[in-house]
Amino acid sequence: MAIDNQEKILESLKEHLTPEQISVNETVKELHGKDESYHKMELPDIVVFPENKEQVSEIMKISSRYRIPVIPFGLGSSLEGHVIPQSGGITIDFSLMNKVLEVFEEDFLVTVQPGVTRTQLNKELKKYGLFFTVDPGADATLGGMAATNASGTTSVKYGVMRDQVRDLEVVLADGTFIHTGNKAAKSSSGLHLNGLFVGSEGTLGCFTEMTLRVYGIPEHITAARASFPTVKDAVEAVVSILQAGIPIARVELVDEQSMVQVNKYNETAYTEGPTLFLEFHGNEAGLRQDVEFMQEIVQGHACIEVAFETDTAARNRLWEARHTLAYAYIHGHPGKKMMVTDVCLPISELAGAVSHARENLMALELPGGIVGHVGDGNFHALIMMDMDNPEEVAKAQEFNERIVLYALERGGTCTGEHGVGIGKKKYQQQEHGAALDVMAKIKAALDPNNLLNPGKNINVDHKELTQ
Ligand SMILES: Cc1cc2nc3c(=O)[nH]c(=O)nc-3n(C[C@H](O)[C@H](O)[C@H](O)COP(=O)(O)OP(=O)(O)OC[C@H]3O[C@@H](n4cnc5c(N)ncnc54)[C@H](O)[C@@H]3O)c2cc1C
Repeated sequence: MAIDNQEKILESLKEHLTPEQISVNETVKELHGKDESYHKMELPDIVVFPENKEQVSEIMKISSRYRIPVIPFGLGSSLEGHVIPQSGGITIDFSLMNKVLEVFEEDFLVTVQPGVTRTQLNKELKKYGLFFTVDPGADATLGGMAATNASGTTSVKYGVMRDQVRDLEVVLADGTFIHTGNKAAKSSSGLHLNGLFVGSEGTLGCFTEMTLRVYGIPEHITAARASFPTVKDAVEAVVSILQAGIPIARVELVDEQSMVQVNKYNETAYTEGPTLFLEFHGNEAGLRQDVEFMQEIVQGHACIEVAFETDTAARNRLWEARHTLAYAYIHGHPGKKMMVTDVCLPISELAGAVSHARENLMALELPGGIVGHVGDGNFHALIMMDMDNPEEVAKAQEFNERIVLYALERGGTCTGEHGVGIGKKKYQQQEHGAALDVMAKIKAALDPNNLLNPGKNINVDHKELTQ
């Protein structure tokens, strides 16, 4: 989308950034006009690569002066069109702000810039015997992960992104900086701004520094694969494991169709049936007890086989296979795009929800499968569709809607971890009711000109609220 004043905006940007930090190159714009989803690409007018918070602040002031949208950009791995500049504008790519600034070993904290990726951070933390827990399938940036409140395979034990954030340095729409928290383990002081900014999808401010919780690498780790005759048996086993209070660190569902993709993509020979990938963290004696108890429980749910991945290489292979599952589907279906559902329900509703999704997926007759962080009540149906075939797209969208409505009717949410972006805006009213107006008022107060990633997350008439 062509913007007014483009030349003047570029001149203003050049006062604060080097020419290499500003791009209007078509290829660069294309790389910033899409995410990893099926949503349609739209190009930004300008892409900038700031190196520090002062530059971010100047970019925000320019955005405010010329009334031009700004779209924060991490890695672009989000799945609901979060980074697509639907009204054009300046995309702020944080890839040059990628330093691990300080590790506070004794406090189990780390301060990073937002462009650091999760694997980059874990490589650094390993030197201290520490690790960062949240592990989405993509090697996402911590800024993007905080902005989407991401989670991953270990969230059942350690919590989601919101649980890891102690403090954010945020540049607001007018270019001022704030800190949303501190380094203390708890605080009853003021409103909980960490909670507000985490998950705000670039619509309230830009994160320029983040202080995050980290954990000691567990003394012992045991991983296992347990296969079942049906998905329902597998999910019911998970519910029983959780209800028994076993401190499981990871429990992931991978259905039969997805196990086929896993084996093809990773050249593994895992049993191709509904499977749970499990992991336990702790000391040797505690682990032995947890694992024995888990085995008893899964056997009570018709488990066919439990295979332990004892050495580090086999364990890493197992989790690599889980993390690359979406790519396995994409690779296996050239020319098709992936739609991923993302509901999360109370654990008591999970088995019913997965069975409902499974029946609907079978009826859809499109390639796909069901996977998920079932320990959190969160699961995904992955569907591969041909974007040039309107019938397939309509069928997939209708399927997605059915899954969401089923979850909302049972006290769940339309998105457990991927976020709202463009794709889930239409469910916000039903999910939040009057609370959505409160969210819109907060947005209007912090971003009165609606310039921060406009059109994402909150689908309300902004002008009405600012009048
Ligand atoms: C194969 C695959 C597997 C995935 N698995 C998971 C999973 O298991 N769990 C999960 O939660 N997600 C998963 N995702 C989705 C995605 O990886 C996450 O949403 C991730 O958090 C996005 O990070 P990013 O760095 O790519 O951010 P981007 O996609 O670049 O941006 C995401 C949002 O964050 C905002 N943002 C980025 N940087 C900043 C900043 N510095 N300040 C303010 N806002 C900012 C953007 O404006 C945008 O709204 C997966 C995606 C893929 C492709």
